[in-house]
Amino acid sequence: MPVILLVEDEAPIRDMVRFALSRAGMEMLDAGDVRQAQQVLATRRPDLILLDWMLPEESGIELLRRLRRDEERKDIPVIMLTAMAEEEQKVQGLEVGADDYITKPFSPPELVARIRAVLRRAMGADASGIISAGDLTLNTVTHEVFCSENRVELGPTEYRLLRFLLSHPERVYSRGQLLDYVWADAHAPEERTVDVSIRRLRKALAPGGCDGLIRTVRGAGYSLSRSKGGA
Ligand code: CA
Repeated sequence: MPVILLVEDEAPIRDMVRFALSRAGMEMLDAGDVRQAQQVLATRRPDLILLDWMLPEESGIELLRRLRRDEERKDIPVIMLTAMAEEEQKVQGLEVGADDYITKPFSPPELVARIRAVLRRAMGADASGIISAGDLTLNTVTHEVFCSENRVELGPTEYRLLRFLLSHPERVYSRGQLLDYVWADAHAPEERTVDVSIRRLRKALAPGGCDGLIRTVRGAGYSLSRSKGGA
């Protein structure tokens, strides 16, 4: 279930977005201002942030600037929300690194469609929601995974782990980072939990020969190669 952080000070909009997201099968975390958003971000890693421009105290654009300078959080996609339709604001938001921009008032279906499009792009998925590497394909819409012609059955944790690694190929993640990014809401599991899930994942991928895409990087962590024997 995608987790969306909404940073918005207007309660009626928060209620509308919460309803729209829950109908679309997404979880919403909410914050009424930048300070609350930072508190949420200290413990959870949302898949996407919906960020209102006009907030009390600090503006949404200030939070966006800070996020883009933050090594750990700079690749979380952000959609800016604003009441201002002026082209200049839109350009400024995109320059600071917003992934998309929605002008208020917006309809729930429009919001959900824009979120899905940005999530697909952020995961490296094509228009039909498929991410692939070598003979491995993962469908982010149906949650089906195939290695060559073989269907791969995965538990929810191994699915999330594979989706995360596939979305960031060739990058090495430490066990601690994977715990933060994939197990975001669990109560601090141990690092060996990651090793157990990697082992399960490799075992599930082995029949089609896709287990070789997942590399153990000694002393560093794990990464996924775009192609077998590649990287
Ligand atoms: Ca506002």
